[in-house]
Amino acid sequence: MIGKSSEKAFEKSSASDSPGNSLPTENDPFIPAGDFIAWLTATRSALKTNSEAEVDCRDCTGCCNSAYYITIRPEEKKTLAQIPSRLLAAAPQGSPGLKVLAHDAQGKCPMLVAGQCSIYAARPQACRNYDCRIFTAADIAPGGADKARISERVVRWRFTYANAEAQAAHQAVRAAARFIRDHAIHFPGGRVPDQPSQLAVLALKVYEVFLNSGSGPTGLGPTELGPTGLGQPRLGATEFPLDAAQLAAAVVAASRRFDEGQ
Ligand code: SF4
Repeated sequence: MIGKSSEKAFEKSSASDSPGNSLPTENDPFIPAGDFIAWLTATRSALKTNSEAEVDCRDCTGCCNSAYYITIRPEEKKTLAQIPSRLLAAAPQGSPGLKVLAHDAQGKCPMLVAGQCSIYAARPQACRNYDCRIFTAADIAPGGADKARISERVVRWRFTYANAEAQAAHQAVRAAARFIRDHAIHFPGGRVPDQPSQLAVLALKVYEVFLNSGSGPTGLGPTELGPTGLGQPRLGATEFPLDAAQLAAAVVAASRRFDEGQ
């Protein structure tokens, strides 16, 4: 499978625990997601450095109520010390010592108490790094019914764009996600990320392959509304000078370059 499985994709941070006066309320339809290029640059950097995301979570606990299994690395000793051992299980795969914090039958993290993270200061790195705007950026849903709470937030984020290049970059991220999802057969082993978060992260890593809308080797066609109401590239074989197999190879190469820090 291309693209590293990344717990970072699930990582959440609450840079602002205190609601700001100028911010919209939970009843407002849209929530400012920030300048798209600034967000994209920061998020790609965070993926490379395993840094915390800066997300205005405010009182949203969507990801804490969306049936995520949270992986915790053995070196996260402060976090592990805060969680009752009965709530931790060995990860079925991954490095030795990797633990998993499971959710309850309702999809709620057991560390969420009275609507707040009871171990916030020592919360897992996976939670610190989670940024649900990756789904908004890639225009893909976080999952099915068990992800309903986080999906509510994903559709409310709205990015801003300083110029046409910023809009083209966002189109390229969406195009990357759609192409990877719809053309698995052209990837090595016919395998692409099956988890929405992994797919979104991969799209962020390789979006540059899909830049240069309408021209060049990876030109895009016109846009149409996607499931989140945002513009979404319409992909078709005739719209790409490169065929699907060549594009898939370019995606694989771009993913490798990203993971190697280039
Ligand atoms: S550990 Fe805390 S931040 Fe992470 S999912 Fe559970 S309640 Fe949310």
